[in-house]
Amino acid sequence: MAETIIKVDLKQSAYENDKIHNRWHPDIPMAATVKPGDDFIIECIDWTGGQIKNDDDAADVRDVDLTQVHFLSGPVGVEGAEPGDLLVVDILDIGTFDDSQWGFNGFFSKQNGGGFLTEHFPEAQKSIWDFSGMFTSSRHIPSVEFAGLIHPGLIGCLPSKEMLETWNKREQELVDTDPERVPPLAAMPYGDTAHMGRMSPDDAKVAAAEAARTVPPREHGGNCDIKDLSRGSKVYFPVYVEGGGLSVGDLHFSQGDGEITFCGAIEMAGWIHLRVNLVKDGMSKYGIKNPIFKPSPITPKYDDYLIFEGISVDEQGKQHYLDVNVAYRQACLNAIEYMTKFGYSKAQAYAILGCAPVQGHISGVVDIPNSCATLWLPTDIFDFDIQPNADGPKKEIDGSVEVPLAPDL
Ligand code: ZN
Repeated sequence: MAETIIKVDLKQSAYENDKIHNRWHPDIPMAATVKPGDDFIIECIDWTGGQIKNDDDAADVRDVDLTQVHFLSGPVGVEGAEPGDLLVVDILDIGTFDDSQWGFNGFFSKQNGGGFLTEHFPEAQKSIWDFSGMFTSSRHIPSVEFAGLIHPGLIGCLPSKEMLETWNKREQELVDTDPERVPPLAAMPYGDTAHMGRMSPDDAKVAAAEAARTVPPREHGGNCDIKDLSRGSKVYFPVYVEGGGLSVGDLHFSQGDGEITFCGAIEMAGWIHLRVNLVKDGMSKYGIKNPIFKPSPITPKYDDYLIFEGISVDEQGKQHYLDVNVAYRQACLNAIEYMTKFGYSKAQAYAILGCAPVQGHISGVVDIPNSCATLWLPTDIFDFDIQPNADGPKKEIDGSVEVPLAPDL
């Protein structure tokens, strides 16, 4: 068995573990060093650092401190890695801890984080998902079970100093266009809750003031939340600093395309088994600016879908010009409305779209003025027939079970 080079203790605060960090900065010291060709295991806490509990109360989702996220394990230095190289990462396996066979999904309050459909779901809610081997189901969402397409939501290499400055500049310019917006347009550096890994306290204080938050995906990959970057994938990451500095976290047992619920997918603590190699000077050789990857040869087999279309006309009937964001939102809302006809609450349906192996596709972006997006709902995750027929929908779901709701502040 490969060596576990980063261990976590789920009972310990993330801030007490110096092989964890929650910001991007080129000077965060390597937590471990490996050689090209090595394979090794990294343990990860969940992205919130244990803020969300396995219970039936969504107050923890409502009150979550989002300045603490995401807690990442690393950075791992790779001998010989230099700026301009590609770091080749084979995701050999991902697993759960024996004593943590569960994960969570939630909707953040509009006042604290929001989500893709926050105008429709402004209050905090959460569902707990239990794992049975490769399958998962939730006591809060009846009649649904599916196989996990397990993956890291967040993985990437440390940015260079120049890249960090570029990120901070462009994101601040965006925030400045509407500084009072709730939720904000971007998450800017915030030193108070920064965890800078093994940096000395004095250095950490200075660096934390400019260290990038981990929320968005960026050129290095980062928080891409790509469900298909699952165990068995091979990823090619751009390298910006000596040693690369690979960090990983935000493990998901499963997720729908878009991670639309934002608190997140099915979020979990667990371990990831990786192998690293280098393509020297690979960025210019292959013209690579953002990571590329090959999917796993093994994925859950869901090949029958009910597909919901959405166009870029919003809920108020306003016409938007080729806006894929609006179109995907309509596809999601259409799927939610449909599922309610079988007895699901809107919140249960929304949670299913965030957690299940739902596909999202950009189907058309040229037919003015409407783009078309589609939401692919796998039919086999339900223990009843969810397809339309001449008799109309049968109410299948017991309405006494609900996704717990936290009163808004
Ligand atoms: Zn996540």
